Amino acid sequence: MKKETHPIYFFDTLTKGKKVFTPLHKNEVRLYSCGPTVYSRAHIGNMRSYVMSDTIRRVLEYNDYKVNQVINITDVGHLVSDGDEGEDKLEKAATESGESAQNIAEKYTKLFFEDIVELNIETDGTKFPKATDYIQSQIAMVQSLMETGHAYQISDGIYFDTSVFKDYGALGNIPIEELEEGARVDKNNEKRHPTDFALWKFSPKDSKRQQEWPSPWGVGFPGWHIECSAMSRALLGRSIDIHTGGIDHIATHHNNEIAQSESVNKKKFVNYWIHNAFITVEGRRMGKSVGNLISLDQIIDRGYSPLAYRYLLLTAHYSTPLNFTWDALEGAHTALIRIYSYFVENLKDAEGGALSQKYKKRFIQYINDNMDTPHAIALVWELIKDKEISKEDKKATLLDFDRVLGIGLDAKEIQLTTVLKNTAKKIEVNDIPSEVQNILTERKKAREDKDYKKADELRDTLDEMGYEINDTEHGAELLRKTEK
Ligand code: AMP
Ligand code: ZN
Repeated sequence: MKKETHPIYFFDTLTKGKKVFTPLHKNEVRLYSCGPTVYSRAHIGNMRSYVMSDTIRRVLEYNDYKVNQVINITDVGHLVSDGDEGEDKLEKAATESGESAQNIAEKYTKLFFEDIVELNIETDGTKFPKATDYIQSQIAMVQSLMETGHAYQISDGIYFDTSVFKDYGALGNIPIEELEEGARVDKNNEKRHPTDFALWKFSPKDSKRQQEWPSPWGVGFPGWHIECSAMSRALLGRSIDIHTGGIDHIATHHNNEIAQSESVNKKKFVNYWIHNAFITVEGRRMGKSVGNLISLDQIIDRGYSPLAYRYLLLTAHYSTPLNFTWDALEGAHTALIRIYSYFVENLKDAEGGALSQKYKKRFIQYINDNMDTPHAIALVWELIKDKEISKEDKKATLLDFDRVLGIGLDAKEIQLTTVLKNTAKKIEVNDIPSEVQNILTERKKAREDKDYKKADELRDTLDEMGYEINDTEHGAELLRKTEK
């Protein structure tokens, strides 16, 4: 049975305020996250979205809810404009590369999975539906919209009539002037209103698309928005608890999803809309068109743990923009290694502890307050430094917190060796400065004399000087903590 002791608050984009979380179904939360468009490798900006929805899931699970999560894979219908004009991103990538759209989708879906696993994003039980596997559900929804007078046909497809949906645009952010301007210059000016959007688009008359399907109105492909409405309905039902995405999805994609879903389902579509702010580089949104992309494999290639990126994300609130710099990642990486080292060196054998209720109470307050991860991370440090708490209790409590943070404390030993191996540059013996060599010699002697207290103090001194000692069966290895 769920213990309803600590209310969870989420900021809801629709009502523009924090709301107490009440699930639609007693113990099960239905969560839909707009997933990647698999025409190129997802970048670390996109990853912020999935780390955020993973955090939502972990917070809910920590509060004893079962979470039924869907992250869709957009493998057709997302046009380069994000609206109704321009090429389909998948078809375009296929033409440019000479590969089939299907191969491209498979390749980037696989890389997406690799990235989210590296980031410790929970995938057990999550459903990852591909839009191309739900074409019939999408057609059925469009059909229903046609029957109820919410949609109309023009020469290039079927469109949703936004004037028929009373609350169209309730999420806000609609750039109406831009849309009107677009409508004036559009080749297609048959749309009844600038905000109307495509539900089904016909294949071009003079060429064959790689991905196209028959429909009651003609051969074509679905609009990107109807895909999410249909997959959400097929897998989670007519009403869901939470829907997530980046803030760029608010204006068009999510306003359109609401219009379609509520017109067909005759029910409120989503109870909590949660959107993450952007990852920026030098103040500009990370995005393909800006050409400032960084992907997770670049982070790994430079010797950083992918979890250092997760840690970096958690140190900022998901709702504020985060400017990515390599220095910031370096800082996150160093902090994470400190936590791992502390864990391995001080808590390794501390078994059988109990949770510190004092800390747990504060932890829940933070994470249940719209996922205040920066405070939760600060609390981890406070706990580490707290001399009043026994090692055993510290370990139990930190492991408990890691159920939400997911920074890899449960796999500490593996993480520590991997991280150190990846990052620290081994210094050749003749490179070691004499003062460091003297400390090493002194420490070796202290260990031979079984004066472990002194050996530990000397290790700390080296730590402060930026060196890490790795005791192996062949003696101590010296590692420089960051590449210089
Ligand atoms: P897409 O594959 O373009 O549909 O985007 C996948 C997810 O990443 C969506 O939720 C976007 O809103 C989100 N997103 C895109 N760019 C960024 C960025 N620079 N920072 C954070 N989230 C982003
Ligand atoms: Zn979506």
